[in-house]
Amino acid sequence: MTVLEARRIEKAFGRTRALRGLSTAIEPGEVVAVTGPSGSGKSTLLHCLSGIMRPETGEVHYAGQRVDTLDDAARTRLRREHFGIVFQFGRLVPELTAVENVALPLLFDRHGREEAITVARGRLEEAGAAEIAGARPTELSGGELQRVAVARALVTGPKVIFADEPTGALDSVAGEHVLSLLLSAARRDSATVVIVTHDNQVAAYADREIVLRDGVMAGVAA
Ligand code: ADP
Ligand code: ADP
Repeated sequence: MTVLEARRIEKAFGRTRALRGLSTAIEPGEVVAVTGPSGSGKSTLLHCLSGIMRPETGEVHYAGQRVDTLDDAARTRLRREHFGIVFQFGRLVPELTAVENVALPLLFDRHGREEAITVARGRLEEAGAAEIAGARPTELSGGELQRVAVARALVTGPKVIFADEPTGALDSVAGEHVLSLLLSAARRDSATVVIVTHDNQVAAYADREIVLRDGVMAGVAA
């Protein structure tokens, strides 16, 4: 049984072939690190698996459902209902406080504002970030931003958590903190985790490492 699968996906940006017929399958509950040199297609793979982007050829499946053929609205809905995503620099909404940022996915999911804020506050507490609930992103350190970003990604109880260099901008102590937060919440909820990373520390925590080179799995010909 697989939760996520890419079948011979290809994606080009102009003349750059970012993915060149890549296939991979991920099991439910697995923690997978996607590694490889800069430019090898890691972010593009994550964008295709999470439905942010559509490959030009090949297929993407999530829980038995074809993802790449869905239109933009359907892929957005799938992401909101099933996936949580963490980016390198948090990508929090600058005008909102930390707790409002964490509550945002719940508001999109049609929860009432008061309930959303209460749940978000609880998630921030679990993240050891209760004291910064009222702060705006510009007032936060890199590590604090990422803890808020992780709390936001987890707030809807996603089946899959995608993270693109979640510790890439952090020192090793802050990085370890963010990583353990992400992985302990994922394990508790039996969520599947796909982390794009350069960080050996992250790869060491993963159940499995997928190494990319030139848009395919290392050692696999295009
Ligand atoms: P990685 O995450 O391994 O660094 P990426 O998937 O970001 O690799 O990029 C793979 C290749 O595709 C790189 O050569 C990158 O410059 C190129 N690329 C990625 N996104 C775009 C884009 N939006 N426009 C043009 N080129 C892109
Ligand atoms: P991340 O740190 O999340 O991998 P990047 O900094 O690689 O993000 O890329 C940020 C955005 O710019 C992405 O949407 C990516 O597709 C795009 N991008 C990456 N490489 C290029 C490129 N060479 N030309 C244009 N856009 C790019």
